[in-house]
Amino acid sequence: MSHHDPNEIYPVPEGRAETALINAERYTQMYRRSLEDPDGFWREEARRIDWMTPFTEISDVSWDKDDLHIRWFADGKLNASVNCIDRHLAERADETAILWEGDDPADDKAITYRQLYEAVCRLANGLKSIGVQKGDRVTIYMPMIPEAAYAMLACARIGAVHSVVFGGFSPDALAGRISDCESRFVITADEGLRGGKTIPLKANVDKAVESAGDVDQVIVVRRTGADVAWDETRDVDYATLVAGQDANCDPEPMNAEDPLFILYTSGSTGKPKGVLHTTGGYMVWASMTHEYVFDYRPGEIYWCTADVGWVTGHTYIVYGPLANGATTLMFEGVPTWPGPDRFWQVIDKHKVNTFYTAPTAIRALMREGDEPVKKHSRASLRLLGTVGEPINPEAWCWYYRVVGEERCPIVDTWWQTETGGALITPLPGVTDMKPGSATRPFFGVEPALMDADGKRLADNGAAEGNLVIARSWPGQMRTVYGDHQRFIDTYFTAYPGYYFTGDGARRDTDGYWWITGRVDDVLNVSGHRLGTAEIESALVSHDDIAEAAVVGYPHDVKGQGIYCYVTLMGGRKAEDEDIAEIKAWVRQEIGPVATPDLIQFAPGLPKTRSGKIMRRILRKIAENDFSNLGDTSTLADPSVVEDLIENRKNR
Ligand code: ATP
Ligand code: MG
Repeated sequence: MSHHDPNEIYPVPEGRAETALINAERYTQMYRRSLEDPDGFWREEARRIDWMTPFTEISDVSWDKDDLHIRWFADGKLNASVNCIDRHLAERADETAILWEGDDPADDKAITYRQLYEAVCRLANGLKSIGVQKGDRVTIYMPMIPEAAYAMLACARIGAVHSVVFGGFSPDALAGRISDCESRFVITADEGLRGGKTIPLKANVDKAVESAGDVDQVIVVRRTGADVAWDETRDVDYATLVAGQDANCDPEPMNAEDPLFILYTSGSTGKPKGVLHTTGGYMVWASMTHEYVFDYRPGEIYWCTADVGWVTGHTYIVYGPLANGATTLMFEGVPTWPGPDRFWQVIDKHKVNTFYTAPTAIRALMREGDEPVKKHSRASLRLLGTVGEPINPEAWCWYYRVVGEERCPIVDTWWQTETGGALITPLPGVTDMKPGSATRPFFGVEPALMDADGKRLADNGAAEGNLVIARSWPGQMRTVYGDHQRFIDTYFTAYPGYYFTGDGARRDTDGYWWITGRVDDVLNVSGHRLGTAEIESALVSHDDIAEAAVVGYPHDVKGQGIYCYVTLMGGRKAEDEDIAEIKAWVRQEIGPVATPDLIQFAPGLPKTRSGKIMRRILRKIAENDFSNLGDTSTLADPSVVEDLIENRKNR
């Protein structure tokens, strides 16, 4: 174990700056221009996209809550599927667009850009044939199979708005999302397959549709061939639907501000919001961030392990990489099946160059030790990435040292469903890294810090506060679907004139940004503001601790006390000495003010289906308030919560 010095710097690995698309000098010059001459900057950058009608307007944005609108490239017309497919046909029709790795290691396939074109056009024509029209919402509830990407792109081709719902969600969660956006069409599969287990997707849809009401047609891909209930008037077999269709389909010319998709946020903090993204700005942002952040070169094999049910899957499995003509790997399975080395085995099998995953996966794999990693060469790897939560320095260092053998930069990309793509992130050829810091803003992004009274803190020097963004960027969400007022209330009311991220952050003397956790989670202990991320990282850096979550609870003397949920390595049960040891450890790592008041050992932590710790629920349990846990529909494993409540009651 080691104490992590927050100023420890990992320089850009040798030779990298010379070969990267962007070096330090270019970053500085481009970043400055993006803020000082935004119109000129974006006029040029947006040319990376093929426009059917070129735009002349750049941006028309007001964040005033009485007149809130966000428009980019608004008089331009384009089609997202053309940008992801058609424009690559002249040069790389026979190159692999989607490299699919099945749940079963023996199952894989490569789909070329030409095959992608035909599959998407056939489905687009099929959707039209059953009545899907421009502007209609189509819910996609699919396993990680190529048809999920075809479905998204086919919607985009005909101007339908997709709403992808993660295949791990329950019928209730699905029903809520279907009815919220009044979706009359659902695309699903008979069953999903993950870690050798089947998931009854079609049966879930049947239940969801019963309560959601107005669904006209359900299109079903036969993934496992299981026998599923069939409603002749409503259900449509995918293969039959596309069989007779033309392999060409004229793309719908879309205004830049026409919706591309709705995506419900994962629900770490409350009732899911239907985040709406439009076409032009989103595509510019997806393509641009994918190219620069991952230092993407034609011919590389790129793997983002997210599910298409999350925004990371939208931007960095489908739209970004395909807009850039990349080979994007799509993985149906889970990291630990059939063995704990599955990720590393896939990396060698497909000669993956870029690997992008989440801290929750890194922590889980770190627990398996170095051996499963070292069994495989990983020689093809050039770059690693992480997204989703602050990464504990301990996990960062393991990822860097063991997985990347100190030759691969790590891009720790901070962003949100709302932001469309990365906003604060290292660039591989530019940014010296500090474990746990998302480092510096991307082009066009102006982060700032606010204090509790709504005053903007100085833009230079060290500071800590609430993270806001001071100007619009093309990939920004445009509204909460069907509830523009909620959009205004959530993001533009706390700090007038700014986009409020909901996250807390610290900027250090080198101008590096550190996400300290969600603002709702920041503790105030005897007048000291403490980020949950920092205490959790200290806990996880202890050899015996596998995972930890920290929340506040009412404390007579301190105002708030520090309540730690701790999972020990190997699922070990806690002994009395452990408590004293852990308190002493945090005290030594951070200081006396951070000393835990209460420690509860937890065999597992409640997580969203995307793997994030749900502190909202942990806070309630710590407060001994079990009555109103809020929306728990996005919990991955509800039994974890029952266990925690039982243990809390027995304290
Ligand atoms: P909801 O908004 O419904 O509560 P969510 O915020 O978890 O759910 P996402 O949009 O997937 O949904 O996650 C964005 C959040 O994840 C960020 O606001 C931040 O708190 C966290 N996050 C993402 N990437 C990073 C990162 N690299 N470092 C630190 N935090 C991150
Ligand atoms: Mg959020």
